[in-house]
Amino acid sequence: GGAAEPPPKLVLDLERLATVPAEKAGPLQRYAATIQSQRGDYNGKVLSIRQDDLRTLAVIYDQSPSVLTEQLINWGVLDADARRAVASHED
Ligand code: C2E
Ligand code: C2E
Ligand code: C2E
Repeated sequence: GGAAEPPPKLVLDLERLATVPAEKAGPLQRYAATIQSQRGDYNGKVLSIRQDDLRTLAVIYDQSPSVLTEQLINWGVLDADARRAVASHED
């Protein structure tokens, strides 16, 4: 990919996230709710998050950012385009 191309935004689908069983999605559901609360952003169907937040979530889930991203894509919570965001940030 070209270095000038900006990474895609990480946009969580909050309606899909709410349908994922809490034993899997609980930590992400709490994390997203915290960001909504900090922003005062309660009525969105989606939530744009920081690239750094995906790294933090990967630590919480004890997975690499790319594995976590695949899981979120499988749940339908992230768009497949999010793969490029992780690839551009992988160490
Ligand atoms: P903060 O990091 O000190 O950011 C203060 C304000 O700067 C934010 O208030 C927002 O108006 C603006 N801001 C900072 N970064 C961005 C950005 O990338 N895009 C845009 N459009 N604005 C930005 P806000 O939204 O009320 O958030 C308050 C605090 O809540 C933030 O303080 C931060 O501590 C936390 N927060 C909000 N959203 C996120 C997030 O997505 N991830 C994390 N880790 N923290 C967040
Ligand atoms: P976009 O980033 O493609 O977002 C499209 C729509 O998705 C937004 O329309 C909004 O309805 C929803 N959306 C995306 N992220 C969030 C989120 O974190 N919370 C909520 N509640 N909704 C979200 P909207 O608001 O009419 O914005 C249209 C366009 O305006 C955005 O397209 C973006 O290009 C720009 N924009 C809006 N807010 C910001 C911002 O904080 N920072 C930057 N850089 N652009 C923004
Ligand atoms: P965005 O608002 O379009 O910002 C795109 C990128 O510009 C951010 O990517 C970040 O690298 C940089 N940026 C924008 N505003 C600020 C700022 O005030 N301080 C700093 N240090 N950097 C800034 P990032 O961090 O990956 O965030 C992705 C998207 O997540 C943002 O797109 C925005 O939609 C959302 N977001 C992140 N943090 C906040 C926040 O604190 N408040 C709100 N309302 N939205 C946020």
